[in-house]
Amino acid sequence: MLIFKKTNETIEFRRQQMNISIGFVPTMGALHEGHLNLVKISLKENDFTYVSIFVNPLQFNDKKDLEKYPKNTDRDIKLLESIGTNALFLPSFEEVYNSSVQYDEINLDDWNSILEGQKRQGHFEGVIKAVSILFKIIMPHRAYFGLKDYQQVKIIEQLVIDKGYPIEIVSCSTVREQDGLAMSSRNAVLSPDAKKSAPKIYQWLLKAKKMYHSGRSVEEIKATIIREINDEKHFQLDYFEIRDAHDLSEIKSREQKTVALIAVFLDGIRLIDNIELT
Ligand code: AMP
Repeated sequence: MLIFKKTNETIEFRRQQMNISIGFVPTMGALHEGHLNLVKISLKENDFTYVSIFVNPLQFNDKKDLEKYPKNTDRDIKLLESIGTNALFLPSFEEVYNSSVQYDEINLDDWNSILEGQKRQGHFEGVIKAVSILFKIIMPHRAYFGLKDYQQVKIIEQLVIDKGYPIEIVSCSTVREQDGLAMSSRNAVLSPDAKKSAPKIYQWLLKAKKMYHSGRSVEEIKATIIREINDEKHFQLDYFEIRDAHDLSEIKSREQKTVALIAVFLDGIRLIDNIELT
């Protein structure tokens, strides 16, 4: 596996790759099967796959969250090598933000008034800055993102459309532990007790789906699930919403494709998950 730490060297190498398809998987490291699944899909669909590991400080609205964020680069490198990743881009903050490559911005007003955008002010601005720079350096034909970060996928799709990047965004299903917990780098910092309670998050989503299919109203489902979350002493609710699957707006009819989205704090660690209801 090639490892690049310098932006200019990466750009130079990439410019020489002609007539082959390039896949790209941006990550913040502390890799797990959810990340590796994206890389495996990219390896299948492209001639050459880049992965980046960059813990982007600009997308952390909470400094403590950034400090607590797990890091294990040696292990990440071994994992990526073991599945045949072609190249890893491992830049420092300066290589991303003080290089010749400029970030792009898009209008995030609508996204910032709901869900992750509302709860984590400045988060998506940070994501868009880093991802637009990474896209310009790697110039992939396809970029792979996990549906676990549902709103993020929608916003990246908007970035590509608004800026006219010739990149196909491929959204990939959420990979779960056997007990249903969505894999996340943050799971590594859960206490053993918290880890035991964490599968409840997916159980609430499954329950919401079951209720939706038995004809219960969105209000009824929300009230039931929110009550159950509030009854669990280790959990603190951030939001539980049922939204339109395309633009995450409020549901107006049962004809709409819908998704249930949840964010909770479990012993102080913020976890998110979602499930498509239809
Ligand atoms: P992160 O390192 O958290 O920035 O995640 C990098 C990419 O991996 C993002 O596109 C995430 O949505 C995706 N990802 C993280 N966890 C999972 C998971 N459990 N299943 C599928 N994709 C995931």
